Order: sequence, then structure tokens, then C-alpha cells
Amino acid sequence: MYHNHTKCLACGAPDTTCVSIKSIPIGAQYFSSEPNLLENEDRLLFQCRVCQHVFFSEPPVTYYKQVIRSVGFSPAMMSMRDHQFKTIRHQYFPANLLLRTLEIGSGTGDYASLLQQAFGTCIATESDYTSRFIRCPDITFVDTHPDEDCFIADLKDYAPFDAIFSFSYLEHLKDPLLTLKKASCLLADHGLLCIEVPDTRQILSHNLVNELIPDHIHYFNAYSLQLLARRAGFQLVSLDTIWDGYITTAIFKKLLNNSIGSFPAAQEAFKSDVESTLSSFSNHDTIAVWGAGHQALFAINSTSLAQRISYIVDSSTFKQGQYTPASNIPIFSPQYLYDDPPQLLIIACAGYNYEVLGAVRGMDIKCELAILNANTIELL
Ligand SMILES: [Zn+2]
Repeated sequence: MYHNHTKCLACGAPDTTCVSIKSIPIGAQYFSSEPNLLENEDRLLFQCRVCQHVFFSEPPVTYYKQVIRSVGFSPAMMSMRDHQFKTIRHQYFPANLLLRTLEIGSGTGDYASLLQQAFGTCIATESDYTSRFIRCPDITFVDTHPDEDCFIADLKDYAPFDAIFSFSYLEHLKDPLLTLKKASCLLADHGLLCIEVPDTRQILSHNLVNELIPDHIHYFNAYSLQLLARRAGFQLVSLDTIWDGYITTAIFKKLLNNSIGSFPAAQEAFKSDVESTLSSFSNHDTIAVWGAGHQALFAINSTSLAQRISYIVDSSTFKQGQYTPASNIPIFSPQYLYDDPPQLLIIACAGYNYEVLGAVRGMDIKCELAILNANTIELL
């Protein structure tokens, strides 16, 4: 085993180790009607030192776009799928009557047919499907593949989808990140992405070398699958192992756009809100704040409150007798409210606001009350 800088195909970190796997069959489907001249190959198997993702770096097998699933689905598997799809439907979309779903890599369409029954509609993608036995004539098949440039264009008339599914598919692709990014483009903002890959814990923990095959470029673990999805703009909703530990099933939703870019505008809006609240008090009115926590300090120091506040009260004895940083406002015990009754008392105690409000009302101090809540000062 040696260390190198081959980039992890899941998380992108250039920090991997690798081992040589000797005499591995070049693929699981290269059968021939006559004796052939194919040869086994030695291949490097990589593992990311950050996310532990295991992968081959060679190109996929030549037939990877024609996903070849094990023939037929057992009644037990179909029953499990039927229950699984209806559970997802009821758990995440209880109110919607008709939903659009997409299955990427649907083989003969057996799962797509169940998805259509559970959700209302299902579009199924498969490469070169016309040449294969399609058992489900009620399903809309689209002959495309996520590695094709036209993949999104081929499906745009059916998008956006409420849910996108992909079963035992991602592990065959050289660039699964590209597929997830395209899925994101086709998914509604509220939509779900359900990805299933083989569970590899047994393979790795028991060194099951016979499980390795170049058809499966990727051997995901729960963490590497999450990191890959994260890079494509998804966050994990649920993660389970099903089918006696053989399958990892993960549900993702799109990451919310929690950009920091709106902080400056929010600060300006808060300053205006403070000005508006203070405008109904004269410069001779005494204004006090209850609370010297970090939210109160920021609100005071970053607005005109710093110039308008006469004092702060706080229950914390180690803050009493001190001055606030920069704004130099004295901090007293709450009893000081009796000595110098304010015209306005702003309660700024975050999670303790309403507990303090009760205490203030119990003190029977005659003044206007306001509460600092989120990005506003609310007069009571
Ligand atoms: Zn990694």
C-alpha cells in the first residue's frame, strides 16, 4: 500500500492510498459464445484518506451505460420496494395527490412501474432501451444517460421532478458527481433524491476481495456518499441499510441557500428598525436595556442604541459594576431600575426574554417595554 495524490472521486481530496489487485476479471459481463482472448488485469484500488471512499481509477467497463441487473426481481424484493416507495410517499408528500418522479437507470422498468403506482407518474431513463425487453409498457422511457451532454435537455419537458430515484447505479459511473449535479437541475426545490448503492461494510471489514469487480468503480461508505452528495448541493435527510445489510439507501434534499451575503443588508435593516423604535422617545427619556449577553452587546454597539442607552441591568453579578466594551455603558443589578426608572426598558436576553419579561412585570416598574427578538425590537 502506498500514498499518492490521486483525487478522491467522492470528496475530491487529493489524499489517497492504493493497493494493486492482481488478476481481476476485466468485467462481469464479458461473456462470449466462443473461447476468447480476453485477459485478466492488475488494477490499482484507491482509498481516500479523508472519507475512506474506495474506488478504481480506470474508465468504466464498455457496457456501463446499459445497466445489466440480475435477471428478474424476486417477489420478496418487489414487495419490499412497494412498501418502501409508499412509505416515502406518505412520509414526505402526505398532501400531494399526483407527483412526478424520475428513475435514473431503470433497466426493464420494474421499479419505475412501482414508483408510478406509488407516486402518480414516473419517467424512466435507460440507454438504448429499445433493444431490450421492456416489461412495463405503461412507463414513459427516455433513452438517455447522465453522462450524455443532452441528459438534462432530454428530460426538461418532464421536469421539475418531486422525487428522483437511482438504484444500484451510481457505483458504475466514473463521475457520479456529474450525475448528482444534473439530478439537482431536474429536481424541484422541495424535492427528494433517493440514492441506493451496495453496502460495502462487509467487503471492507472482512477483506472480501472477490466482491471487487471493475463494473463497480465505487465502493461507497455512508460518509463518502454524503460528501459526494454535498458537493452536488444536497443534504442528507435519512440513511438506512436495507435488504439484510446489502443495500445502503440514502434520501437527500437540496441544500437551503443559507448564504452569508444577506448579513450586511440585515444589519442595515436592524439599524433602521432601532431608529424607528427610538424615534418615539425624546433624547431626555431614559432608556435601559436588560441583558449584557452577546446579542445585546452587538445590538447596542452597532446601532444608535449605544448613544441612547443610559444603563444596562443584568442578573449576572460578575457583569454588574462593569462597563460594556467600546460603548462604555454601565451595568447594574436589576434593582437599579427602582433607583433610576427608565421610560423604555428593552429586554435583550435571547432565550430568556420571556422569563425576564415576567420578572419585570413582577417588579411593577412603570415604563414602556420592548423585546429584542431576532432582527427587530418589538414594542409591547
Ligand atoms: Zn474522499
